[in-house]
Amino acid sequence: MGPRAGAGGEEIDELLRDRLLIMVNDQSAIDVLPYLPARRGGLVLTGSAAPARCREIRNALPEAVAVMDYGSHTRRVATPDAPFGLKSEQGWRDLDLSGLDEILNGQRVNGASYAVTPTCFIPADEAGGAPVLSAVTAQANRLRRADTVVLLPCSWRWLRRSSVSLLAEQVRACRHPVALIMQADGDPLERGQVAEGLRQLCRSCPRLVLWRTDLAAFDAMAHGALGAAVGGSAVLRHGVAPRPDNGGGGHKAYPVVLVRRLLRYHRVATLQDWFAHIAPWICDCPVCRGAALTRFTDRKADTIAALQHSVCELYSLHEELDATLVGDERIGWWRQQLADAWEYHRLLAAQTGTEVSYPKVLQAWRRQSPMALPRAQEQPGHDRSGPS
Ligand SMILES: [Zn+2]
Repeated sequence: MGPRAGAGGEEIDELLRDRLLIMVNDQSAIDVLPYLPARRGGLVLTGSAAPARCREIRNALPEAVAVMDYGSHTRRVATPDAPFGLKSEQGWRDLDLSGLDEILNGQRVNGASYAVTPTCFIPADEAGGAPVLSAVTAQANRLRRADTVVLLPCSWRWLRRSSVSLLAEQVRACRHPVALIMQADGDPLERGQVAEGLRQLCRSCPRLVLWRTDLAAFDAMAHGALGAAVGGSAVLRHGVAPRPDNGGGGHKAYPVVLVRRLLRYHRVATLQDWFAHIAPWICDCPVCRGAALTRFTDRKADTIAALQHSVCELYSLHEELDATLVGDERIGWWRQQLADAWEYHRLLAAQTGTEVSYPKVLQAWRRQSPMALPRAQEQPGHDRSGPS
């Protein structure tokens, strides 16, 4: 057997660094696999068959990066006494420290490159989330392992000005890298202060990964996030409110594709409306090979091809990001992508004679980048250095 991509010691940061993972349910994993670049790609597997699928993939491709997210945050709200838990065949199971350790070991036994904590949903600060958040990091800090990423599935409200400093403090206090999920009904980045808060968090926390997200992965990585995991289906592109019967991320019946020029996912039906009277945009990715983006129907084969196309476009964008130096050069590259997308929105509106609004999220990303958050001891009134 060849070398296995697996974490231990400081290796985990290297496994995460600048890596873009695709998050898919256990059924879609095989469709996506051929389009993952070995050096900077990988999979987050969801769904009940994730352990079996992970084992298969890692047996076939020992060097592939594959991890699991059990989705506990989609089912349960965390409490200070039970921040971690898991749905099993016997029903729901709260996890104490040794239970948690056992679950994390199980992920590694099934071939996961590193373990991911089954954290339950962390409500907003004003809804009593602060003690829950500190219970997650406190318990995780008691784990004697260096192969684990701590999942923080948070309400979008944690990214607002009033709460983001506390969130950053907890992320920095965590001994493990942290994967942040932002939960909202719809796109969390369309909520007030979230785009700015996320940038501040990424600038302030060097071991942060953005999880279960969309193109925000690129904004986060441009601003210092270690890595990201982008959802293959719409339901895996942001956190959802916990419900006991939530699944691992099902398929929408209608096809959705990433339109790279617009830095946005769109329903194919929308593209068909835009391009009803003019030649549609084509795509040169390895899946489309010059075919029109309007061609996808809701047939199974087309839904799969649409997913594969989106994955190729994500990695093509990511390859460009990966070629830049962290810091100003990377931010400059991202700003250029946003400026180009703005031009393409204008062009599309002019060509089609329709209204193509420039999305709120892209507008927010075109604003100036905020500074990193001050650390607690650097804030006025917290100076511990004594008189000079
Ligand atoms: Zn394509």
